[in-house]
Amino acid sequence: MRTANLLCRSIGFVVILIVLSSLAHAQVIAIKAGKLVDPETGTVATNQIIIVENSKIKSVGPGTAIPAGATVIDLSRSTVLPGLFDCHSHLCQMTTAENRDLFTTDIKQSTAYRAIIGVKTAREYLDSGFTTVRDVGNNALYADTSLRNAVENGIVPGPTIVNAGRIIAPFGGQYYLRPERVELGSPEYFFADTRDEMLKAIRENIHFGSLVIKIVVDDQRYIYSVDDIKFIVEEARRAGLKVAAHCMTEQGARNAAEGGVASIEHGFRMSDEALQLAKKNNVVLVGTDFTVEAAGYLGLDAATSKYFHDTFIDRLKRAYRIGVTMAYGTDTFFEAAGHTRGTLAISYIDSFVEAGIPAKDTLKIMTTNAAQLLGVEKQRGSIKTGMFADIIATPENPLDNIQTLKRVSFVMKNGKVVRSSATL
Ligand SMILES: [Zn+2]
Repeated sequence: MRTANLLCRSIGFVVILIVLSSLAHAQVIAIKAGKLVDPETGTVATNQIIIVENSKIKSVGPGTAIPAGATVIDLSRSTVLPGLFDCHSHLCQMTTAENRDLFTTDIKQSTAYRAIIGVKTAREYLDSGFTTVRDVGNNALYADTSLRNAVENGIVPGPTIVNAGRIIAPFGGQYYLRPERVELGSPEYFFADTRDEMLKAIRENIHFGSLVIKIVVDDQRYIYSVDDIKFIVEEARRAGLKVAAHCMTEQGARNAAEGGVASIEHGFRMSDEALQLAKKNNVVLVGTDFTVEAAGYLGLDAATSKYFHDTFIDRLKRAYRIGVTMAYGTDTFFEAAGHTRGTLAISYIDSFVEAGIPAKDTLKIMTTNAAQLLGVEKQRGSIKTGMFADIIATPENPLDNIQTLKRVSFVMKNGKVVRSSATL
């Protein structure tokens, strides 16, 4: 009797397994792509079929047979391309029209509130076609790690997140504190001036889920030296993490480039010599090239916004001419009228258009280069067999008209359709 019972249960278990595995196999999607862009080469293939099984791309080609039972998504009138990247996001930070001041915004909002902001911005990024973002800090006490976990566990929608945790900086970080209230610099910034403090800051970040180390090099009159940066880069490297360096000054950017960071953020005052040094040392520039409109949301007046923007455009032109590797990053942390975080982030392509950068290079900056900087190039950033199915579609070919990226009509992340517009 017992044996029979056991046998019955085992058979039942096997049946359940078969049903589950057939359900898993049933998750096959065939995408008909009218045009398929390869941003790495800047080329287009026509009438391609992409087979997506579970989360990954199983095959791509012109004559691929569509398996029986596959769900067919017809994008034959659209252009299909890999999902976009923003390498400089602040998912859990948002200044508003009522208060553009970062310090008071940061200290008023709890980590929990910041995480809720992140839920909103992550969804908005994904909706606009950004399937991967690097979050470079300013998330109170690791709200970014919680947000990343929630996305990875399917609790909330969002892009793949490579997060920095707490920003490591010389005393004061990006604030100007009062001597009586030094503690207000924390948790937003992890002050680290000595080597022991740097070591502790890096290790604590990694322990609490950081996947990249973010440092502020030069927002105070004392800045991280080349040796400081080399020390940080080496300690991060030992744990397999790269370093992103916020640089406002020429000297800060030079120190970062010599110190071996993976990327210089902003770098808007970099001279040609500093850009050449970055190029020589394979440092990627994440330029955060503000549009005039975006600069206005920093609380700058019209003339200053224009000057700020022009400085970025001038450096963007020079960086392109010199041939520094660039990756797209926006530094959007503000509420902007009529924009979601996603539409705001995509609006920065206007700066690339203004700087005269060809569409094929802008697209590479938004995909291929970004994937390499984030170290995910073997998983994301192109539509090839074995890659995660991070796929978007636009009405026009972005190689002909980059502005079409503002009208993303279809978004798939990890093989799941996130958005599919009726206008396909
Ligand atoms: Zn930033």
